[in-house]
Amino acid sequence: MFGRNDKSCLGLTDVDAISENEPRRVTAQDLGAPKGTRLVTAGCGKNHTLLVGSEGQLWSAGANQAGQCGHSACPQISTFKLVNGPKLGGVKEKVVQAAAGITFSVVLTESGKVFAFGSEEKGQLANGQAGERIVSAGKSAFDYETEPILVRGLAERKIVKIACGSQHAIALDSEGRVYGWGYNGYCRLGLGNQQDALVPKLIPQFAGPNELTMGADIAAGPSNSVVIDKQNMYFMAGKWKNTGDGSGGQPFSTFKFIQDIMGCKIVHAACGGVTHWAIAQEEDGVMTITFGQGALNGELGLGPNEPKSSTKPLQHKPLTGIDVLQIAAGQNTSYILAHPNDKYSDLPRHPAEIDVPDFCFVCEKDNGDDDPLLECEKCDYPFHLKCLSPPLDAVPDGEWFCPDCEADPGAPVRLDGVKRILTKGKKGKAADFDDEPAVTGQKRKAASQAAPTKRKK
Ligand SMILES: [Zn+2]
Ligand SMILES: [Zn+2]
Repeated sequence: MFGRNDKSCLGLTDVDAISENEPRRVTAQDLGAPKGTRLVTAGCGKNHTLLVGSEGQLWSAGANQAGQCGHSACPQISTFKLVNGPKLGGVKEKVVQAAAGITFSVVLTESGKVFAFGSEEKGQLANGQAGERIVSAGKSAFDYETEPILVRGLAERKIVKIACGSQHAIALDSEGRVYGWGYNGYCRLGLGNQQDALVPKLIPQFAGPNELTMGADIAAGPSNSVVIDKQNMYFMAGKWKNTGDGSGGQPFSTFKFIQDIMGCKIVHAACGGVTHWAIAQEEDGVMTITFGQGALNGELGLGPNEPKSSTKPLQHKPLTGIDVLQIAAGQNTSYILAHPNDKYSDLPRHPAEIDVPDFCFVCEKDNGDDDPLLECEKCDYPFHLKCLSPPLDAVPDGEWFCPDCEADPGAPVRLDGVKRILTKGKKGKAADFDDEPAVTGQKRKAASQAAPTKRKK
C-alpha cells in the first residue's frame, strides 16, 4: 500500500502518507487471518479501503462517517477491521470482490450476490431509497447502512463483476446483462435520463437477445460508465470530457462507442479522475490506449515532450511492446500492471536507476559470456547460475527473483547499491560496492546485453 493516509484509509495511525518508493506490505496474517489466507483483491474509495481475503473475508479502514467501512458510524476506522458480513439468511457469504465510491461500498460474493453499505444519499445502496432528509433549514442529513445489505432486484441473477463510480455503481451478470444504480447526473448510468436509480436498472442496450451485443466487462469512472461488449467494442455513457460531445453540457445519455477505437478488440478498461484506458488485443500482443481531457498531472504518461491531455484516444507509445495485464486509474494517477519482458526491462525505473554491479553477487566475478549472469527481475542483481543455492542448470523460464527478493517480496528496492545481508552467499557479510566504480544505467544495460541468455520470456 502507498499514498495518502487521510482518515487512516491505509489502516495506519502513525503516518500521513506512504511513499510509492517504499510501498508497505500488508498480509492477511497482519490482520489476524489464519495462516494460508491471502489478500486477493481490494477496493479503494475516496478515503476508505476494502480488502478481500482468500477465504471470503472483508476488512475495511478509513472514513466511516456514513458506515462505508461496514462498521457502526464513527469518523474513521483507524486500523483494518474485519466486517461482520455480508450475510444472507443469517449465513455469512464469502466476498470475492469489493468496490468503493466516495461514501459507500459494494461487495460481490461467491454466490453472485451483491451487497452495499454506507450512504444511500443518491440510491447507491439500491434499497429503494434515496436517504436525504431535511434536519433543519439549509441542512440535510443522509440515511446510511452500516451493515452490508442485499442489493434489491438481482436475486435471480448471478452477478460476476461490480464497479463503482463516485456515487453510482454498475454490475455485470453471468449472461452479459448490465445493471446500474445510484446517482445518474450526466446520464452516467446510460439510461437516457438523469433520474437517480434507487434500485438496479437493466441497461437495455446490453440486455440481448443478441448475445454479441451483451456485456463482457464493465468499468466505472467518477461521472461515467464503460461496458465492453462480447464483440470487444468499448462503450461509454455519461460525462467523460469537458467540451463537446461527452461533456457535462452534452453527456452521452446512452452507451456510445468511441469511434477512434471501434476497430480495436478491447479486452480491459479503466477510468480515472479524467483518464480513460483500454487494452486492445492484437495478433502479437496487446496495445494500450489512453485518452482524457484536462489531465494535468501526467496521468496519461505519454512522455515528457508529449501532450499531457488528449480528447482523442491514442496508442500509448511508451507502453508499446509492454505486455500490459491490467490498469488501475486513480483520481490523479495511473498504475499499469504488466508481465516482465525485454521491453519492460528497458523502461526507466522509478524513482531512479539502480546501481548494480556487473559481476556475480555471490562470487563477485565476471566470467564473461561463457558463464552468463542471471539478473533478478526486481532488484536487477546478477548471479551466476552455478553460484545459486541450489545451483541452476539453465536460465529459468519466466520471471526469476533472487533469494533476497523471493524471501521478502514486499521489501522496497534498495537504491544505494548495497545489498541486504539476509542471504548474502556463504561469506555471510554484505557486499560493499563503495570501492567499485558506480555502474550507470547505461553501462548496466550494455553489460546485460553482453549476456544474452540472462533472461528469457
Ligand atoms: Zn558467481
Ligand atoms: Zn532481487
